[in-house]
Amino acid sequence: MHDLSLERNPIEILETGRSISDIIDGKIRQLYSGSEEPFYVVNLDNILERHLQWISLLPRVKPFYAVKCNNTTAVLKMLSALDTGFDCASKAEIELALSLGVKPDDIIYAHTTKPLSHIRYACAHRVNLMTFDNEEELLKISLVHPQAKLVIRIAVDDSKSMVRLSPKFGARLPTVRQLLGRARELNLEVVGVSFHVGSGCTRSSAFRQAIEDARRVFDVASVLGFQMRLLDIGGGFSKIGDFQEKFEEFSEVINGSLDEFFPPVSGLEVIAEPGRYYVESAFTLAVNVIAKRVVVEDRANKCAGVRVMMYYINDGVYGSMSCITFDPAHSKLEPYPHRAVKKSEPRYCSVIWGPTCDSIDKITESYWIPELYVGDWLLVDNMGAYTVSVTTDFNSFEKAHIYTVVTAETWHTTITAGDCGCTEI
Ligand code: PLP
Repeated sequence: MHDLSLERNPIEILETGRSISDIIDGKIRQLYSGSEEPFYVVNLDNILERHLQWISLLPRVKPFYAVKCNNTTAVLKMLSALDTGFDCASKAEIELALSLGVKPDDIIYAHTTKPLSHIRYACAHRVNLMTFDNEEELLKISLVHPQAKLVIRIAVDDSKSMVRLSPKFGARLPTVRQLLGRARELNLEVVGVSFHVGSGCTRSSAFRQAIEDARRVFDVASVLGFQMRLLDIGGGFSKIGDFQEKFEEFSEVINGSLDEFFPPVSGLEVIAEPGRYYVESAFTLAVNVIAKRVVVEDRANKCAGVRVMMYYINDGVYGSMSCITFDPAHSKLEPYPHRAVKKSEPRYCSVIWGPTCDSIDKITESYWIPELYVGDWLLVDNMGAYTVSVTTDFNSFEKAHIYTVVTAETWHTTITAGDCGCTEI
């Protein structure tokens, strides 16, 4: 029995025959009377779909959702109801997961450079599984959490990923023997290997190579006397844009490599830390045009010499769209008008700015769209990954409100709840 009820943001049940677009239309109509604040509509059915696809294509791999990617309570509760584990990167993320009823054994503290006090917190709350990639970390862990079950994170080839992580994290293979030896001297228990091929991985071969590398580390660890039983294949999965077909391909390669290097008889537990994959397409952002200026562009660019529409919207780079600056998957956001647009409507060269007083707060430029007016709404799809969890308070603009929606069928079949706190809409 899982209770998804949320005190402040009740989950709304979607009546049969109504779509997410109907919900967005309804919210916008409601807001017309009073507020124009930005908002998200979250489709929990989308998360269920992703999960069903995961378990069907990667049956040997239990997902531990990466909380950092999107820490919205409804998302975490939904995933917990679906029996995923959780990858937490800090004391606060562990605290959040535990507060939602996640069991300590369903958490991996997947950060290799942790503050001492956070390791102490993990110990006090029986979160034992954690990663490391350096000797100093081993010393800290031996001091405050000597019973921890350790997972050595290795650096792997992530050169074909949109966001590389191995320059910052992961023990290089030639250093692994010495590091494991140090863990042995400190009487620490190493139980597995983890890696991350980088976020937005484009090549399935990266997984194959990383799994082969992990096999080598298992062999070294076994010689040193460790009982190795866990492989963590990290994150890096996506299913939007150019990645649409990649998940199937990656799954095939991962399954084949696991069978080759860690045959099922080995009894190995395999987990992963997907973030983006689970939430990217479940969130649609609605933003409002709060101001407009029309200028003649004199700079030499695609709009030089023409009238340019400058629109100012109420969410931006310091809010839900900080991903523009660090996440290549989001470097080109394409907001589109909520209102119906006729094919024959003229398009104007436009720049869309965020609301703050900083000029890097720009969403898109040389963007040809129909004319918009103050009060119009724009929608942005696929806004679930590295958005709500990476906002700032700059200029104190209100953060986008989150409305969560689920179909009755998903609600009743997946999450059997008593008093759900949900509302029919
Ligand atoms: N695990 C770790 C340690 C990470 O650093 C990240 C992302 O930075 C993830 C998992 C999630 O990665 P992704 O969103 O690509 O699945």
